[in-house]
Amino acid sequence: MPKVVDSRICTKCGEGKKLSEFYRKCTGRYGYWEQCKTCVAIKQKSYYQANREKCLARQKISGKKYYEANREKIQAYRDAHKERTKIYNKMYKAIDPEKTRVRARAERDKHSERYKKQGAIYRKTHKQEIIARNKLYNQTGGKVARLRLSDSYIKSLLTKHDSILRYRDIPVELVVLKRVQIQIERELKKETA
Ligand SMILES: [Zn+2]
Repeated sequence: MPKVVDSRICTKCGEGKKLSEFYRKCTGRYGYWEQCKTCVAIKQKSYYQANREKCLARQKISGKKYYEANREKIQAYRDAHKERTKIYNKMYKAIDPEKTRVRARAERDKHSERYKKQGAIYRKTHKQEIIARNKLYNQTGGKVARLRLSDSYIKSLLTKHDSILRYRDIPVELVVLKRVQIQIERELKKETA
C-alpha cells in the first residue's frame, strides 16, 4: 500500500510541517505551496511594509472597480445582512468605544458635504418622525445620554458657560478628556458613598 503523505518540508524555513500548514495550489506536482503558511505570511508582510503606499493605492482602485462592477450585488448583500451588521457594530463599539467614536468622526469629517446634503434631505422627508423622536428623547433620553456619557451630552457640558463655542468646533480630544474626568469623578463618588 502506498504511504499517505501528510507532511512536507518548507523550502524557506526548512521545517517539516503538516500539509494543513501549507496553502493549496492548483498547479504544481504536490498541490501545495512550497513554503509554509507562516513563511508566506512573513513574506507578504515585509512586502507590504516596503510597498505600503503602492499596496494601498492598488487596493483602493481595485476596491472601487469591484464595487462599481458589483454594485447591485453588494447592495443586496448589505440589505440582507443589515441586522447582523448592526450587531457586529455594537460588539465593536462595546470592545473599543473610543476607537469607534474616533473612526465615526473621521468618516463624518471626510464626507462632511455628503452628510450635510443627506441630512437636509432626511430632515425634510422625516419631519414628523424627528419631532416624535425628540419628544421621546426629552422625556427619557436625556437620562440615557447622561449615563452613557454620549458625545452630545459631554459637549452640552462643555458649552454650558460658553454660548459662542459650537458643538462641531469642540476637538475630539477635549471630549475624550472630559469623559475620562467624569468617569473618574463618578468612580470616586461611588467609593466615598
Ligand atoms: Zn516555512
